[in-house]
Amino acid sequence: MTTAPHETELLSRIPNRLFIGGEWVAGEGEKTLDVFDPATGQRLVSIADASPADGLRALDAAVAAAEEWAATPPRVRGEILRRTFDLLQERRDEAALLMTLEMGKPLAEAQGEVTYGGEFLRWFSEEAVRITGRYGDNPEGTGQMVVSQRPVGPCFLITPWNFPLAMATRKIGPALAAGCTVVVKPAALTPLTTLFLTGLFEEAGLPKGVLNVVTTSASAKLSDPIIADPRLRKLSFTGSTPVGKALMKQAADNVLRTSMELGGNAPFVVFDDADLDKAVDGAMAAKFRNIGQACTAANRFIVHSAVAKAFADKLAERVRAMRIGRGTDEGVTIGPLIDDKAVAKTGELVDDAVERGATLVVGGHALEGAGSFFEPTVVTGVPFGSDILREEIFGPVVSIVEFDDEAEAVRLANDTEYGLVSYVFTESLARGQRMIKALDTGMMGLNVGVLSNAAAPFGGVKQSGLGREGGAEGIHEYLSTKYTLIPNS
Ligand code: NAD
Repeated sequence: MTTAPHETELLSRIPNRLFIGGEWVAGEGEKTLDVFDPATGQRLVSIADASPADGLRALDAAVAAAEEWAATPPRVRGEILRRTFDLLQERRDEAALLMTLEMGKPLAEAQGEVTYGGEFLRWFSEEAVRITGRYGDNPEGTGQMVVSQRPVGPCFLITPWNFPLAMATRKIGPALAAGCTVVVKPAALTPLTTLFLTGLFEEAGLPKGVLNVVTTSASAKLSDPIIADPRLRKLSFTGSTPVGKALMKQAADNVLRTSMELGGNAPFVVFDDADLDKAVDGAMAAKFRNIGQACTAANRFIVHSAVAKAFADKLAERVRAMRIGRGTDEGVTIGPLIDDKAVAKTGELVDDAVERGATLVVGGHALEGAGSFFEPTVVTGVPFGSDILREEIFGPVVSIVEFDDEAEAVRLANDTEYGLVSYVFTESLARGQRMIKALDTGMMGLNVGVLSNAAAPFGGVKQSGLGREGGAEGIHEYLSTKYTLIPNS
């Protein structure tokens, strides 16, 4: 399969350079990197490949623009975000197609991400004018205490490949609303959506230097000098836990503010008093959205033994009806994985579980031929100790274990170093309330399989990260608190 003419036309209009100080530039040595379609393995386009010197030039631009942007009225900052939101709505079909092309998710899901990702621009356009402080007498009655908020300063934002739009807007939105200037480094696998978004910001009238974007095949080499530069004040990263830990160590040298949105290993707990149809709907969404490549993807299905077989059977029936293919094709419900490495890793996890005694109910194999496809899969009776229960699968595999009582369900659910999200299915309100308290995660879906919302604080505990994105909390990641004392005389 080749790229269709309307796809080629869209790709030809995507900026293929670095965006530094308000200019699209080729970068040092005019090096390029290729971007591929994971459904065909074919090259889509070549774009600029930034060097470490280009990265530092982007930081120079962000530093140069910082004072003026911080002094720009919040209403003006908010209106630029709002205009970018409006432009994105006008061009939503292009944004969705671009995401499907470079990342592989089915078009309907890409449209969903335009909605979700766009909401961060709208939400933070509204939050820009609600940055407030406190004022009051000190307890001694000798003066007034003033607490105010200031932008933290120039930020470095590193995003992953799995949600090319939303992971960018979830950081750029609050940073710009707070009055911070930024350097953004998207993932080399899916940089085109960020370049497209940058074009919208430019069209919306964002002043030069406020947003700088560097695409590179050498993430660490480009990032190291930026993080080591004392002018940088904040690092916000979304990606895997091992990379996040390494970056936190680097950030420690300059005591940088950090936000870390890291990996997950979400438990999906189904009690014997659950509505099984609801649980199956939730499972389909929590597992197969984004081809299983979401930090919030249900990773371990922990199901009461009385309903385990019925749950697995109903789920397997839905999985058998899924249509695998290129996300642009009519009726496709599950696309490719991001690359062949991801396919191999998914296969190894399934094989390990089966070798240890798990039962393969449906799927379990990579597809032959072009593209990085892995069948949607269900395995039951997964033995404890299997890699699939410990590692983030990041693929379309449901792995089911059984439990017999609530205490065991809680123990199994919390038996991980991750703590991003959990899903619980029960028709008992009291049990649901107990689970809210008992599960050690930053977020929880009660009888629902997708819960992300720009108006809610997204983030994890334990090794799933630090900080929150979205909600009223999101903007505080980019603000620092200043206390001033004004004596009465
Ligand atoms: P990754 O850690 O490999 O890469 C993330 C980003 O960091 C990319 O831009 C990459 O180029 C860059 N990077 C990698 N090594 C680097 C280094 N040494 N220095 C600087 N930058 C570096 O992760 P990924 O494969 O792109 O994304 C998948 C991971 O992201 C999963 O673990 C997933 O759970 C996690 N994720 C978390 C959230 C969340 O909000 N918690 C959201 C989406 C994805």
